[in-house]
Amino acid sequence: LAADEDESETLKRRMTREQVVEYLEFYRDLGVDFVYRRAAPTQSDLPPLAPVGETLDQIRLDIGDCKRCRLSEARNSIVFGSGNEHARLVFVGEGPGADEDEQGLPFVGRAGQLLTQMIDNTAAKEGIPISRADVYICNVVKCRPPENRTPQPDEMQTCGHFLYRQLMTIKPKAICALGATAMKALLNSKEGITRQRGQWQKWHGIPVMVTYHPSYLLRQYNQQARREAWEDLKTLFHFVYD
Ligand code: SF4
Repeated sequence: LAADEDESETLKRRMTREQVVEYLEFYRDLGVDFVYRRAAPTQSDLPPLAPVGETLDQIRLDIGDCKRCRLSEARNSIVFGSGNEHARLVFVGEGPGADEDEQGLPFVGRAGQLLTQMIDNTAAKEGIPISRADVYICNVVKCRPPENRTPQPDEMQTCGHFLYRQLMTIKPKAICALGATAMKALLNSKEGITRQRGQWQKWHGIPVMVTYHPSYLLRQYNQQARREAWEDLKTLFHFVYD
């Protein structure tokens, strides 16, 4: 009887061919090129697929006290995202900085204040009745990289499946990729940001506009880049809210 039970457990754990195909397609879409399998795999060895119809709260629960990548080592908080769960527009940045790590919220430091101004002022000038609270804001990685370094490809891949699930749950009308890391994560693009910004691209059928990260606009006092970023937001807002 015990042997029969063991066998039926093994059968239950074995993935069907369709499940394996679905699994590999999911990770291929995230840009993951290799999936390693342990010698004696069980389903719990593999990260779960995005369930259909899940909520942001369920995704946050699934993240838990995540230690799936090395960025967990020095973080204080997991910065999941904030804003309207039914937003028509989602902004995706790179990762939390010191202020965000301390408060557990995205874009609350100086770059965040600039982003808030850009959203609120563009909307006001263009006569679009929204503010920052109406959009959703999150990052490619949910934990602060030490010394604000750029997240490494394996960290972006590991954390990227939470971003994928957030975007699939919200299903916005458009996404704004802030800076080169978000652009790489969403579009797998190796081109420079100055060439890519201001043009419409697509992520799983959802239009994506790439623009400068607000911290770049703060660092480089570059009037032209600022002007271009405002132009990008204007185009984006009219597309989403007109
Ligand atoms: S960055 Fe993402 S995958 Fe890495 S520990 Fe934090 S939540 Fe987990």
